[in-house]
Amino acid sequence: MIDLHLHSIFSDGTDTPEAIVLAASELGLKAIALTDHDTLGGLERFMAMQSSVATTLIPGVELSCSFMGKTLHILGLYLNFLNQQLIRELNHIHAQRVERNKLMLKRLVAIGVPITWEDIVLKLPNSSITRMHFAKALLRCGIVASLQEAFTRFIGDNNPCFVPVADFKPEDAITLITKAGGIPVIAHPGRGFPNGFCWDEAMLKLKNMGVQGLEAYHSSYGTLEQNYFLRLATDLDLVPCGGSDYHGSNKHGVSLGTGKGNLHVPDVTLKLLQNLHQKNLAS
Ligand code: AMP
Ligand code: MN
Ligand code: MN
Ligand code: MN
Repeated sequence: MIDLHLHSIFSDGTDTPEAIVLAASELGLKAIALTDHDTLGGLERFMAMQSSVATTLIPGVELSCSFMGKTLHILGLYLNFLNQQLIRELNHIHAQRVERNKLMLKRLVAIGVPITWEDIVLKLPNSSITRMHFAKALLRCGIVASLQEAFTRFIGDNNPCFVPVADFKPEDAITLITKAGGIPVIAHPGRGFPNGFCWDEAMLKLKNMGVQGLEAYHSSYGTLEQNYFLRLATDLDLVPCGGSDYHGSNKHGVSLGTGKGNLHVPDVTLKLLQNLHQKNLAS
């Protein structure tokens, strides 16, 4: 079993990269990828653990993009995280995210929500600060009774305090990942898009932009959805990837490797990705 979608304290997860690697090794996972939102911050510590475990460690990232008017997440797997252009672009996105977060805080304060920048950021100077950090601050300060309430009342996509994060065009994210030696993979297609959205057509567009895989396995999928995306991956000759989208205790009920209990990303996916990675490097 493998798990190619995980978050650490470098974005909105609660575990350190080291703790994630040790837990994956304990579980006997064959491979894992660290894919924090819009940051490479945890990758050096993550990859430094490779000599201590048999689990294969894959450096990754999850980039926020806009596609057909919605947020689309694209994973980059097998990234060369020392690639200068990648570092530059992510530093730029990071700076824009800080500005967006300050604007969102301003809007919350303007409607009378008593939180401060310090409440949100705590001691995470190098992390990619997301709405999850806002939700936790609102919970900690007793303004909401659950993380979910923070999204429904204050910072969900349709709430007036929400400010969209500056993001990539999919073609730019895909090019950036590819140039850094990575494999671009569409994360959890289906999430954030309306029911009935035609993924056959959209995925073909994304493949033509250079996408090489899609998440056919994800904690949020039922069997029907998983089968649909497995079929789509086969039809379009994309690698059927997947993972738990583990966020530690920030997402209750989602475990490393097994997701909500029945997730199982097969080892054969690792082989397919390794072959593709070798092919990409050679071309
Ligand atoms: P951001 O990239 O700052 O807009 O934050 C997005 C992160 O917030 C996601 O990766 C999720 O972890 C979390 N998130 C967004 N919307 C929701 C929601 N409705 N319920 C729970 N978590 C959410
Ligand atoms: Mn997240
Ligand atoms: Mn995502
Ligand atoms: Mn994720």
